[in-house]
Amino acid sequence: MLMQGIAAAPGVAMGPAFVLQEGPQAVKRYEIAEEKVQAEAERLESHIQLAILQLEALIAQTRATVGPEQAKIFESQIWLLEDEEFTGAAKEAILSNHMNAEAAMDDASKTIIGIFESMEDEHLKERAADIRDITNRVMRLLEGKNGEIQASLDAPVILFAHDLTPSDTAQLDRNRTAGFVTNIGGRTSHSAIMARSMEIPAVVGLREGTKQVKTGDFVIVDGSLGKVYVHPEKTMIEEYKEKQVRFEARRAELKKYDGQPSVTADGQRVELVANIGNTQDALAAKNSGAEGIGLYRTEFLYMGRNQFPTEQEQFQAYKVVAEIFGKDQPVIIRTLDIGGDKELPYLDLPKEANPFLGYRAIRMCLEETELFKTQLRAIVKASAYGNVKLMFPMIATLQELRQAKQLLAEVQNELDLENIAFNRDMEVGLMIEVPGAALIADQLAKEADFFSIGTNDLVQYVMAADRMNERLAYLTEPFQPAVLRIINHVIKAAHHEGKWVGMCGEMAGNLTAVPILLGMGLDEFSMSGGSVLAARALLHKLDRTEMKQLAEDVLQMTSAEQIKSYVESKVPAIADWRA
Ligand code: PEP
Ligand code: MG
Repeated sequence: MLMQGIAAAPGVAMGPAFVLQEGPQAVKRYEIAEEKVQAEAERLESHIQLAILQLEALIAQTRATVGPEQAKIFESQIWLLEDEEFTGAAKEAILSNHMNAEAAMDDASKTIIGIFESMEDEHLKERAADIRDITNRVMRLLEGKNGEIQASLDAPVILFAHDLTPSDTAQLDRNRTAGFVTNIGGRTSHSAIMARSMEIPAVVGLREGTKQVKTGDFVIVDGSLGKVYVHPEKTMIEEYKEKQVRFEARRAELKKYDGQPSVTADGQRVELVANIGNTQDALAAKNSGAEGIGLYRTEFLYMGRNQFPTEQEQFQAYKVVAEIFGKDQPVIIRTLDIGGDKELPYLDLPKEANPFLGYRAIRMCLEETELFKTQLRAIVKASAYGNVKLMFPMIATLQELRQAKQLLAEVQNELDLENIAFNRDMEVGLMIEVPGAALIADQLAKEADFFSIGTNDLVQYVMAADRMNERLAYLTEPFQPAVLRIINHVIKAAHHEGKWVGMCGEMAGNLTAVPILLGMGLDEFSMSGGSVLAARALLHKLDRTEMKQLAEDVLQMTSAEQIKSYVESKVPAIADWRA
């Protein structure tokens, strides 16, 4: 059986499926005799403690393999396991109602999940998912099974889930997750973005995917084409083995572009940098040939924990990345962009009907000035250790930019008074991801050092199509003529003011987009680390003057399909390097 989804992270993975079940199944229920209720409550308590031990081990492992920020996800799970309202209520039900431990856990977890879910609050729903997750862990332990989802499987698995949140994705054990498939999500949902930076082949938006597959089914995931085969024929397996070999050969071939300059065939230099969410990604990006960081998504530092990171914690995190890239290579640190599909459980924000159009990113930071200034202090302090630049997300008006810069100036004055060193010439830019900002790019460019075009959001706002909605993939498409025209407008407006323009949306790493963007004059391309070498290899083949003509041609075209096939026919080298 072949299922078609959305290609989220390139590469081929084959192996047994592991379908993540939502919620405990067929929970055993029986009555406990009066004289045994105390022992039953203790049985539950000891398994809760075992789950905590496992989570502690997971914290250490995640810290070492993925990064300290992701490890904090499990700290919040420990905290939940110790919550009186939850596990306390389960123990009480054993003692008062003579219930067995499994049934008591099941009821306590359902009660809390039920309350959260009936409130239909996205933020609370995420807490519900956490409770479901730790309930499953305790249930598996009570049943005498190891609590780890993948522990019973020796071989790496292909994970199938209805959805994986960004923090779920960060928790994946790369050695045991050969690939993953989700029912919902689009190419620019954050789990897809993270899969690309972790280099795990992935397909998202498969709609009914988890219903069509059972744990143990043999599957092939083609993350480059968005295809998933269940019980593939022998010939298909052979074909994909060859594809896997070609994929690896391409990766090896690309290695020769590591350390080479990012220049076009006619000798023009552009900057090829990476998008990261943590220190681990920064190291991986450096190893993948990135010449710096074009987007550090700092919100990942704030996720998977119970309270805000301190100024010192943030400073350390930013400083390390600045030092990895040294004095010359840029590290663009974006201020907190919470909201949309990125939630903070401990930030008690009211539910919104349209989170992507809501109180997010700079909008929130300009109100929560204490929180914002703490982050600004950490970034400004880190500027003394490398080539740090600062960038504001989701700016929509000139006044927002001015307010944000005013708070930055206050922080710089405070640090001056405290005699703390920082780089006074740090460049300050903003993301262009709101169409309103794109249309006043000339005004914004006068008061900013640079722009970085965030196409993941810009596309969804220009086309009025939620980036998370797999049914709207034809609209959340960066090759739509309207999107290309607005990008061209932004680049021209910035250049007119003598400012440079980058792009950190996923489009920048799309090989079919690179010739167009080069032709439009884009100065910096920021992408997942794994895409850098292919982009460099392609750039070596492109002549900027010819690409200028190509960009002019596509700006007159009337459909995304027409544009893509035109570019691919004019630039055959795209096919050579496509993953
Ligand atoms: C974007 O919107 O293009 C972007 C890079 O930011 P994020 O994906 O984090 O919203
Ligand atoms: Mg964005």
